[in-house]
Amino acid sequence: MTRNDQLFNRAKQIIPGGVNSPVRAFRAVGGTPPFIARAQGAHMWDADEKRYIDYIGSWGPMILGHGHADVLAAVRAACEDGLSFGAPTEREVELAETIRTLYPSIDMVRLVSSGTEAGMSAIRLARGATGRNKLIKFEGCYHGHADSLLVKAGSGLATFGNPTSAGVPADVVQHTLVLEYNNQAQLEEAFALYGDDIAGLIMEPIAGNMNFVRATVDFTRACQDLCRQYGALLIYDEVMTGCRVALGGAQSLYAQQIPGFAPDLTVLGKVIGGGMPLAAFGGKRAVMEKLAPLGPVYQAGTLSGNPVATACGLATLAAIQAPGFHAKLGDMTRRLMDGLTQAAHDHGLPFCADSEGGLFGFFLLPELPQNYTQVMKTDGKRFNQLFHGLLERGVYIAPALYEAGFVSAAHTEADIAATVAAAREVFAQMA
Ligand code: PLP
Repeated sequence: MTRNDQLFNRAKQIIPGGVNSPVRAFRAVGGTPPFIARAQGAHMWDADEKRYIDYIGSWGPMILGHGHADVLAAVRAACEDGLSFGAPTEREVELAETIRTLYPSIDMVRLVSSGTEAGMSAIRLARGATGRNKLIKFEGCYHGHADSLLVKAGSGLATFGNPTSAGVPADVVQHTLVLEYNNQAQLEEAFALYGDDIAGLIMEPIAGNMNFVRATVDFTRACQDLCRQYGALLIYDEVMTGCRVALGGAQSLYAQQIPGFAPDLTVLGKVIGGGMPLAAFGGKRAVMEKLAPLGPVYQAGTLSGNPVATACGLATLAAIQAPGFHAKLGDMTRRLMDGLTQAAHDHGLPFCADSEGGLFGFFLLPELPQNYTQVMKTDGKRFNQLFHGLLERGVYIAPALYEAGFVSAAHTEADIAATVAAAREVFAQMA
């Protein structure tokens, strides 16, 4: 029995499913997940000393790769100063200012410890600020595991969502309306029906939780226009896309195509913490001033703005502001997608891919999907074959077909070439 197997068996005795976050358990693809012992640059080593090229990057935060020297130095120095104070620090202010500089739509920001917390708080704030109850979200978008966001589409627009998790009372999701991504007609209908009671619309601007699906420019414009028309807040969940698809997130890309485009609230996480538990939500001053202690919307956190996490985030954000950082990252990611697409097509397999900055998605489908239903047309068995073929060959992609992939600045041409060569071998078996 391998050491990975031994650890997984031990873990399953004491931790539900053997993991502390479900997707790590390989339930969709089967098999034993590698237990990671250490990582450096673009590579991770498991408990059996097998090396992997890492395209998960801790599900997004590790944009610089693992063990970046400046980040580690900043974290070590912060640890020496103290792990947590529960009192304000200078670095929190610096990080908040840095976020505001990178995201012009943000006047004020609050730091928290996870994307879930940030999303949940942004929604409470939207409801508190507007005095309304209803919330629009899109099928296939994930915004953390807060009760009111664990919802799947109801059977029609007249019915609100159904809980997707046991333990979430139907009452709690009764105000959450789940719509199809990129479906403008349905969105217009929803606003026409419920516009006066819609507090906010939350969306992933490029959805990374149904693999990789972009909101079209027209759909993005419609989201903003309808929110403005009906007085609802547009909440951009950039936990995954923030600082990864571009320094200023997906909103900076849409702002280039839609004059005056800006969400009212933005939710950030992952990259801004550089691998430590840190997330944030921010937006217009008038809205953010509704938060306690200034306003009536309560939100708090023992470890919010943690001094070690803020040091890690600041060092990460400093490094990714180097000139040309995202252009180079985007180029490397595109090369990977082009290589995989070519390799699959050479073997006559349906395959298409998309990417932006260091975020990518590929599909065993003839054309790029526009929404969750289309994504889920992927043949799960074929995906699993590809996943395990790559893993065997030391390439670690997300263990589920509805997850995006992550390239870091530490990935080299050699990593990309090795990945494409491994994929070629697997595609040959699949053809
Ligand atoms: N929002 C998006 C878009 C995410 O991808 C995630 C996590 O993957 C979250 C929110 C939740 O963040 P966290 O896992 O830090 O709670």
